[in-house]
Amino acid sequence: MDRLESYITAMRERSAGLPDRRTGSNGRYSMTDIGLAAFSVFFMQSPSFLAHQEALAEGPGRGRSNAYTQFGMTAIPSDNHIRAMLDGAPTDHFDSVFAAIVRDLEGCGGLMDGRALIALDGSEHFCSRKVSCPHCSSRKRADGATEYFHTFLGATLVAPGHKTMLPLPPEFVRPQDGAAKQDCEVAAAKRWLARVGAGHTWLRPVYLGDDLFARQPMCAAVQAAGGHFLFVCKPSSHKTLGEYLNGAELDSLTKTRGRGTEKRIHRYRCSFVTDLPVTRESVAELAPCGRARRKIENETFNVLKTGGYHLEHNFGHGKETLASLLVVLNLLAFAMHNACDLVEVQWQQARAHLFEHIRTVTAYHLFLSWHSLLRTIFTGMPPPPR
Ligand SMILES: [Zn+2]
Repeated sequence: MDRLESYITAMRERSAGLPDRRTGSNGRYSMTDIGLAAFSVFFMQSPSFLAHQEALAEGPGRGRSNAYTQFGMTAIPSDNHIRAMLDGAPTDHFDSVFAAIVRDLEGCGGLMDGRALIALDGSEHFCSRKVSCPHCSSRKRADGATEYFHTFLGATLVAPGHKTMLPLPPEFVRPQDGAAKQDCEVAAAKRWLARVGAGHTWLRPVYLGDDLFARQPMCAAVQAAGGHFLFVCKPSSHKTLGEYLNGAELDSLTKTRGRGTEKRIHRYRCSFVTDLPVTRESVAELAPCGRARRKIENETFNVLKTGGYHLEHNFGHGKETLASLLVVLNLLAFAMHNACDLVEVQWQQARAHLFEHIRTVTAYHLFLSWHSLLRTIFTGMPPPPR
């Protein structure tokens, strides 16, 4: 479990650098413990993880808990203290941890050959009529009530032919980004390209996105960040382009795949804009790339919202960056789980029902290492008494 250990070490090191606004002697909990405590809840997919670890330390763990052994924490702060201390921390604080995971996976050859696909997509992660902060966007509902919400621009890395998707750092929509949904997402996407995209040119990325990105300034921003684009382009929202193509003889390609009753004819027609060369040969490769976008949207956000990640759950809102920072930590947990799915053999073996087991066994047993925790889940044998 060396890789997972190294990811958690990276989390620990970055947490140590979180801004500490306490003055005086109120420093019982280090920022390292505070950052790791919040992260551990998402990583273990257990909102009660910290409470169980406190009970474990006071009881059978005799002063020790899995929060200490698996995450390297030295004390367990309260939920309220964690929220108060994290509110205001910059939302890009953990960017380097995302980047380290991508580099690590690339280093072991598990990620991709050739180009990487990065799908950009907006998602709402908070919505309430009661709770709000100065950074909430707002909208009027039909019944006259005001609804507060937060959205972010998610970026997910996929490799054609690979199942694993890896989230990159998100960019949060600001209320002043624009009145229309698409202005907000495009503005956030441009910031993302300058902040994160420009540091990932070594992936030779092709950016995938919805029709709302298929506009000249956004395409220029992609190229300025060293990437290429492949954006959906609906004729209804691109009238001039549609009219231009209407009279034109479209260069199309027909391919027959399979045999007998399984035989299907694939006909490729241009419904996206791209700056990659489109030829009779390359169109058969480009079309699946475009479709990969839909898959990411469906699978990533589905897992994040309905899987164990509860992306839309209000873990804490705060007055400054708390709601957004908790999304970052949740996405980092998702990134690490997906990375382990790819490269950690012991993790792969224990993956079925993993989180159910993690929640249960860490509540009652102390484990000194990830190796020991996963071995117990995989073999069903408790760790040797100590
Ligand atoms: Zn808010």
